[in-house]
Amino acid sequence: MENDPRLATLDALIAFCVENKISIAFSPQSVNIWPRYELMISPAYRVFIQKLIQFKHSGAPILGSDVYLKTLLRLEPYDCYPTLIPRILPGGELEYPCRPIAKAGDEQGGREINLFNFATWQAAWSAARQRYGEPPSACNSCFQQCYAEPSLMQAHPLESWREPADLATFAPG
Ligand code: SF4
Repeated sequence: MENDPRLATLDALIAFCVENKISIAFSPQSVNIWPRYELMISPAYRVFIQKLIQFKHSGAPILGSDVYLKTLLRLEPYDCYPTLIPRILPGGELEYPCRPIAKAGDEQGGREINLFNFATWQAAWSAARQRYGEPPSACNSCFQQCYAEPSLMQAHPLESWREPADLATFAPG
């Protein structure tokens, strides 16, 4: 990972986005519900995240709050609230409680609840809870931006609020 050419490619990607004013967001590559292990132990990856923060502060169009990027840098545990923003697939399948867990399709989550089979959102949600149980309250494993941003906003409202930003800053990765 230290000399991984993909990290150098990312520098070029950011330069391209800056030059062409294209907003870009990053989340760590995930394996099951964790960031890829090599990333977690890689100093080069940390350096890259630090660079992302610097790029962002110097005006590069990096989507992501400071709170999120710093959490990523430290791989710091946070309380995830995966059902703050429910995900529904084009076929009506509810990804319960979140995409990473639903993808595994085990007893904790899955895509068996289809909104087309229910008259109300409450009925579908209640069926999902019955089928899979309550959403996790202490999972902090995947660090995917789309789930981490709203969870961190809830956990650190002041920090998020103080950051000079518009809504795009917190756009899903
Ligand atoms: S951290 Fe949140 S989004 Fe990620 S797997 Fe855990 S509950 Fe799901």
